[in-house]
Amino acid sequence: MRFAKVPKRPTDYVPSDDLLHDLLLVLKDVVAFESALIKSTNGNGNGNGHHIPESEFANLTLVIQKVTDVYNRLNKRNLDVDQALVEASPQIGLDLRQLLHDCLQFPIVLPYARNLKGLRRLFLCYCGEQEVPDRHGLGLCIECLELALECVQEKKKNDKFVLYSSYSPQVRCRHADFSTLLVTCYKPGIWTPAWCEICLKQEKQRLLAKAMA
Ligand SMILES: [Zn+2]
Ligand SMILES: [Zn+2]
Repeated sequence: MRFAKVPKRPTDYVPSDDLLHDLLLVLKDVVAFESALIKSTNGNGNGNGHHIPESEFANLTLVIQKVTDVYNRLNKRNLDVDQALVEASPQIGLDLRQLLHDCLQFPIVLPYARNLKGLRRLFLCYCGEQEVPDRHGLGLCIECLELALECVQEKKKNDKFVLYSSYSPQVRCRHADFSTLLVTCYKPGIWTPAWCEICLKQEKQRLLAKAMA
């Protein structure tokens, strides 16, 4: 992984704008760890409590240490760091203020990149409006799961989903043949997976069992 080169600024005579710039750079480095965080949601755990591979965890810790250092230096100057981050956030479409706060609570909190609505990017449903319960299932939020199921059961499209069946196995789920009714997101220009009624019912069962556990 390539990180931004944050200049070493040993003295306290560094302009505050430069320090703020450094903070933005190291926060972007934290965002670059999303691939490691993906593993954290799929792995079996390895002692650091977050299922992140040890080497990645060590690197993330180092980057977050840099965030903390720059933040502490800024803080001593009574600067409104939060406000600066709020202003910079729309440029990259991420909530940098929240990211900083999550970094300061690491490792109790994992620094997920959140969009401007506060949703973790890694957990976004295809609808883009809600998070999915976890990353082990179909990638649908609860609301979309219900809507998709309703769509396929009632054989009626709605605003978010459309129906089809296909002669091409590549665009069918593992349960389906050419005549199986499949449902997929209605997103012109974007090809999302298709699911049959069994897929959706099994996912619902899985989430229910998880909630009861
Ligand atoms: Zn959704
Ligand atoms: Zn299926």
